[in-house]
Amino acid sequence: MSRKKRLLWQLYPSYLLITLISLMAVTWYASTSLRNFFLEQTASDLEARAHLVERQISVHLDPLDPKGVDLLCKKIGRRASTRITIMLPSGQVIGDSEEDPGKMDNHADRPEFNGALNKPYGASTRYSLTLRKNMMYVAIPVKKTHPILAVVRTSIPVDAIDEVIDNIQIKIAVGGLIIGLFAAMLSLVVSRRISRPIEDLKKGAERFARGDFQFRLPVSNLEEIGGLSEAMGEMALQLHERINTIMRQRNEIEAVLSSMVEGVIAVDMEQRVISMNHAAAEMFGSIPSEAKGRSIQEVVRNTLLHEFVTKALSSREPVEKDVVLSSDGERFLNGHGTMLRDAEGNQTGALIVFNDVTRIRRLEKIRRDFVANVSHEIKTPITAIKGFVETLRDGAVKNIEDADRFLAIIEKHVDRLEAIIEDLLALSRIERETEREEVVLAEVRLKDMLKTAIQVCEATAMAKGIRIELSCAEDMVAKLDAPLFEQAVVNLLDNAIKYSNNEGAIGVEATQTDNEIIISVSDQGCGIEKKHLPRLFERFYRVDKARSRELGGTGLGLAIVKHIVQAQGGSVAVESTPGKGTTFTIHLPRA
Ligand code: ADP
Repeated sequence: MSRKKRLLWQLYPSYLLITLISLMAVTWYASTSLRNFFLEQTASDLEARAHLVERQISVHLDPLDPKGVDLLCKKIGRRASTRITIMLPSGQVIGDSEEDPGKMDNHADRPEFNGALNKPYGASTRYSLTLRKNMMYVAIPVKKTHPILAVVRTSIPVDAIDEVIDNIQIKIAVGGLIIGLFAAMLSLVVSRRISRPIEDLKKGAERFARGDFQFRLPVSNLEEIGGLSEAMGEMALQLHERINTIMRQRNEIEAVLSSMVEGVIAVDMEQRVISMNHAAAEMFGSIPSEAKGRSIQEVVRNTLLHEFVTKALSSREPVEKDVVLSSDGERFLNGHGTMLRDAEGNQTGALIVFNDVTRIRRLEKIRRDFVANVSHEIKTPITAIKGFVETLRDGAVKNIEDADRFLAIIEKHVDRLEAIIEDLLALSRIERETEREEVVLAEVRLKDMLKTAIQVCEATAMAKGIRIELSCAEDMVAKLDAPLFEQAVVNLLDNAIKYSNNEGAIGVEATQTDNEIIISVSDQGCGIEKKHLPRLFERFYRVDKARSRELGGTGLGLAIVKHIVQAQGGSVAVESTPGKGTTFTIHLPRA
């Protein structure tokens, strides 16, 4: 590519060249004309002088007096500082102002002489061998009547003329040089005046390209440049508006994407990330700004996702699949992949939207497990009842003692079934009420409520010789659903009694802080091993199944407590030391 020249250096030399050529042409023309004018002037001057000499000389020609002619020539020549030569028609020189005519050769071959013979006047400029300089010669014929008597020739050295002309030419040249310099400066100014606004426009365009739309283009009084400047200004304004619109739209899209809880990932055909929102980045543990432009394999290390992306890119239909993340605890992401198309409808990539369905999947699992657990729990007593009923029918009924024993066992299992069903119904009722927000909270005196709960358990406690000690300020009030909450405390007390040794003590204590009420039930029973604590509030979770069954437990008591407390906006926790005792603590927010 040829190197680009600046406009100034394009314009200025051309202007300068045109000016200099014109100046030189004018100078040459002027000096040539001047020279010609001078020569013509000198020629006519010489002719006039020749005519003057002609009149004075003619007296010496008829009759011919060569001596007189020569003397006259020398006299006039000295005065007129002009060389005067008189020749006979034969070309013989008879008088000369500077030389001795006798020594001069025949002049018949001289062009001016020939001119004078044939025409009224002859002229020539050439080198004189006699005088050894360039001379201008003018010759005229002298005739009285017809025949030519002689030819008068006047001449002058041309060097003098040349000198004058040279002088004038030098002056013209100096003048020309000065004018040239002036013209050079002027054309520089003119070139700058043309190129500067264009350079300013160029600078303006560069600023626009850099996104600086506040830049004001210079105003020019040149019509074309002014028009261009206005057009560029208008263009910049529109460009600015369009960029603003695009930015606004992009920000809106980004705001929508980043506020979505669903993870969104867009990839191109080469599986490079086009866009990734915060939710997606958080799901896969990557940084959205760093993900852009990199391959999905680099950004997310999950083969299930890679397979899903490949499938979404190759399928014409929307695809759906669960992706399991197992970095910190299992997370289930339900992905939907659809094709991304450009304005012409060509596939440009794929858009994948992930929903975190961990909770739903967990709930599904809990429900599945729950159904299995319930069936299992119910199956045992039913099998037992069925077995004993069959035994009775097979004849045992006839033996009163056996029948009594079997019926007592059947009754025990029926009680167990009833307990399970009652607990299940209670659980589902609490769940339903919580879901429908039907739990009615009312202000109650805490001490009264705790007293009622203790009364319910008093008989069983007394049977085991266990004391229940209550510690609660008289005026303490709490906002809760009293019958439900009472049930929770009863469950805790029931467990404390069940898992305490005889003659033990159980403490029920209520305290309050600035923002919560804390109710604790502590016993000095067998305690629970640490590994069981996290799962203790799950339905049907029991530390010792056989013991729990033996004591008439359903494994639902603590699950009910948890649900009741949660329905009142609180939480329940457990602390236990095996062999020493257990403390359950309920935290309720203060009204
Ligand atoms: P259950 O009907 O079997 O008592 P819960 O849900 O009430 O069922 O309790 C779950 C399990 O937690 C019980 O099986 C028991 O092993 C343990 N547990 C509950 N309370 C206590 C306690 N106060 N002391 C020791 N273990 C307890």
